[in-house]
Amino acid sequence: MLIIGSHVSFNKNNQLFGSALEALSYGSNTFMFYTGAPQNTIRYPIRDDLTKEALVLMKEKGIDFSKVVVHAPYIINLANPDKEKYDFSLSFLKEELKRCTSLGINKLVLHPGSHVHVSKEEGIKSVIQGLNLLLKDDLPVQILLETMAGKGTEVGSTLEEIKEIIDGVQNKEKIGVCIDTCHLNDAGYDLSHLDAFLKKFDETIGLSKIGCVHVNDSKNVRGSHKDRHENIGFGTLGFDTLLKVLYHPLLENVPKILETPYVDRLYPPYKEEIRMIRNKKFDEQLIEKIKNSQTNF
Ligand code: FE
Ligand code: FE
Ligand code: ZN
Repeated sequence: MLIIGSHVSFNKNNQLFGSALEALSYGSNTFMFYTGAPQNTIRYPIRDDLTKEALVLMKEKGIDFSKVVVHAPYIINLANPDKEKYDFSLSFLKEELKRCTSLGINKLVLHPGSHVHVSKEEGIKSVIQGLNLLLKDDLPVQILLETMAGKGTEVGSTLEEIKEIIDGVQNKEKIGVCIDTCHLNDAGYDLSHLDAFLKKFDETIGLSKIGCVHVNDSKNVRGSHKDRHENIGFGTLGFDTLLKVLYHPLLENVPKILETPYVDRLYPPYKEEIRMIRNKKFDEQLIEKIKNSQTNF
């Protein structure tokens, strides 16, 4: 069965319950959220009553909570060893892991980071060091390193770099990977030959490490190192290639998360995109339909 959802919001007043409701409104059976705004560090205490209500709702509606993931905020950067920034990233990530634990979330997606002014090798070392400080035996959360587009000085835009980080992590079962189709494309990987890519992934890292797939089309050509997401079927990857990723038997039990852009920056496209994915038929009028359905009131 296809496990599909999108990135949803998590707000102060409704928390996990609100996130689950939003996911259900899109026809999702999984979801991903940030425990606050992705770009800042303002975080409110987790309310257990809302978590409990959310669990009841999810059980009733058939969302397997063990597949729901959290995304760490972008400001965490373990690849920059600059003392002050590094300590901040470490302590924030530690708090984020605690929040995941109290929510009962067992997978946290993390961008490996940008090495900024040090060498890539030093950046990678710094990421490994940070992960080894945090990934303790009793931690109930696994960190999923996201494959990046290779924008600026980003670490983790090749499978070899991800492998290098995983190799350096002592507690191997606490580390996994989140593949992002837009990022892979922009990093130079050809997903139209999906079996060849999966074979390479398996040989380099191991397919069992994949804990999440971000399914996004890309606004840019393969190898552009840009990282600009496009709606499903409207970018350079195209509907057929993304459909292959979504329905590949080797990725069947992995949650697929859409992080495609809001239409006109206002309207979430997820309900319509998920419907189109389930129909397995591209609708070139989709964006127009979303716009019209919103303005025809
Ligand atoms: Fe991400
Ligand atoms: Fe992503
Ligand atoms: Zn991205």
